[in-house]
Order: sequence, then C-alpha cells, then structure tokens
Amino acid sequence: MKEKEKEILRVENLKKYFVKKGMFGASSIVKATDNVSFSLFRGEVLVIAGESGSGKSTIARLILGSIPSDSGKISFEGREIGRNKQNLERIRMNCQMIHQDPYDSINPRMTVGDIVVEPLEIHGVGDRMSRRRRVIEVLQEVRLEPAGQILKKYPHMLSGGQRQRVVLARALALKPRIILADEPVSMLDVSIRAEMLGMMHDLQKRYGISFIYITHDLATARHFGQRIAILYLGKIVEMGPVDNVLLSPRHPYTQALIDASSEPDPDNLHKEKKVRILDHPAQTGNLEGCRFKARCPYAIDKCDTEPNLEETGYRHHAACHVQLDRTGLD
Ligand code: ATP
Ligand code: SF4
Repeated sequence: MKEKEKEILRVENLKKYFVKKGMFGASSIVKATDNVSFSLFRGEVLVIAGESGSGKSTIARLILGSIPSDSGKISFEGREIGRNKQNLERIRMNCQMIHQDPYDSINPRMTVGDIVVEPLEIHGVGDRMSRRRRVIEVLQEVRLEPAGQILKKYPHMLSGGQRQRVVLARALALKPRIILADEPVSMLDVSIRAEMLGMMHDLQKRYGISFIYITHDLATARHFGQRIAILYLGKIVEMGPVDNVLLSPRHPYTQALIDASSEPDPDNLHKEKKVRILDHPAQTGNLEGCRFKARCPYAIDKCDTEPNLEETGYRHHAACHVQLDRTGLD
C-alpha cells in the first residue's frame, strides 16, 4: 500500500486529562483524549465525529500545540513535533483552524484585509506588496468579490456566510497543507452550508489540502468526508471509510448516533435495542472496561474489560466485543 508515502499527519497514543474542580473543593479527572491514534493522508477529509464533550476540540488544540499533551506523539510530514520550536512553527504554518463561530478567529474591529493578512505578518511571510497580492488572491479564491472592495469592509458589514469565508481566506493565506475545521458550518443557515462545504471540497481537490472535519452532524460528515473516526468519551470507538462506517456500523455507539440523526425507520431491525443518545454520558469517575457499557444494549460480562480497536473490514476498525453486522457491506 502506498498510503505511508502520502501520510501527512500521524497521531499516536495521544493523551490529555484535565482536572475538573467541583463544588466544595472536590476535583475529578476528565479523560478528554485517551490513547487516540490516527493518520491523515494528503488531500483527504477525515471526519472526527462525536457528541458534545467527546474530546473533538481537545484533539484539534493538541495538534496545533495550543495545549500540551500528557503523552503520545504527533508527527507532521514524518517529523515528530514534540517541544521542538522549529517543528511547532512548521505545523502552525501548515495547519490552520476554522472555528464554528467566525468571531473566535476574527477581530470585529479589523478590516477584512487586515484580518486575512495577519497570519502572513505574524509568520513574516513576504513583503507588503506580495502580502496584498496574496490577500486579493485568497479573497477571490473564496469568491469574496470584488476583492479590492471587500478587503476594506468590517465583519459586521458582511453576511454570516461571507464572514465564514473570510475565516477560510485567512486560513488559506499561508497555503496550509492541513485545515482543521471545527463545526465550520453549524452556525450558518442551512441554505448556505452546502456552498461552504462545496468550497472546501474544491480547495481539497485543487490544492490537495487535507481536512480534519470536526462535527456531530453525520449528514455533512457523509457529504464531505472520506474517512470518519467516531469518538466517545475521549476514545476512538470506530474508524473507517465514511460509507462503510455509516452504512454498516460495527459499534453500538455509532449505530446510536446514526439512529439519533435519522428519521425513525419502521424496518429498523434494531429498533428494540435503541440507545437514548440524549442521556449525557458520565465523563469522569469509573471508566473501567468499555466506556459505553452503561448505555449499551448489547453489553455482556466481557465488556468489563476494555475492547481494542480491531480491524473488522477493509480499513474499517471498531472497538467492541460484540460487533454489529447489519449489512455485510465490507
Ligand atoms: P463540543 O462539541 O461541545 O465542543 P468536544 O467534543 O469538542 O465538545 P472538548 O471540548 O474537547 O469536547 O472537551 C472534552 C472534555 O474535556 C469535556 O468534558 C470538557 O469539559 C473537558 N475539558 C476541555 N477543556 C478543559 C479544560 N481546560 N479544563 C477542564 N476540562 C476541560
Ligand atoms: Fe457494548 Fe460491550 Fe461493545 Fe462496549 S464492548 S459497545 S459495552 S457490546
């Protein structure tokens, strides 16, 4: 397989625990990222999906080096980043983030031109003229035209969709190899979500940019992604090509996420084994064995021991002692 040649980012056994202070001075440990491993290949869209609090954003912050990991390795283009300043700078230039809320990454008091040029200035790229050319180029790239006029505007003068395109233009300014998109369309009107995803898809095809698309929305995940990792309480419980995972899920949690996001299906063979996904999972305390067992309708005694992520089909892995087999698509 040639995949190794194309691997751009590798995350190995990444761990990040937080101490959560409770009332009356009590504190507990939140295992936000627990032994997470995956690879990202050149030009692919890897979706990281899971409920709120499953650890999606923590993984993004660890990759960008904005928080340190407790243990594990992150390598960019074959080089481990660790605490090496040069490698950290390389990943910060080559890996850009798009947040859910445009105002998380743009200053409302700055003009569009100043917002988009800022990463180039921070990293000392080019001179004044070449930076301006690059700003015009990326504004045109995200179809914010006429670019010469748009760059003088302030964010409040733009629509929500245009603001998110300014964020995309800012992310593109440094010609990154990877874009980490954290729920980039969830605050947009449904009518313009497809347009934004289409634009990201074009960029992926044209420039071979790899995307890590973080979402809880399986419909857009399927539309935009090629592979998907399903995260539950800080652990990847299933990972594989999007269609295989979402059409033929092996892990009961993936099945529950699909059930929660789709219309009730009268022919659903598993209707009597539904998980109430809205029950908020325990994030702290005893997480021995399979973390899903308290909510799992298929749990057996063996589930007191933690299942490993094992191959269950072509490039399809699941961490479950009782794997579902609904359609045999793999
Ligand atoms: P959402 O979809 O709501 O953004 P998420 O899947 O991105 O959620 P994270 O934000 O990564 O989840 O959080 C994972 C867990 O880590 C949560 O339980 C959260 O409360 C906890 N957490 C995150 N950051 C901190 C922190 N700085 N201190 C303590 N706990 C934290
Ligand atoms: Fe359910 Fe057991 Fe599979 Fe965990 S390992 S998802 S508890 S069947």
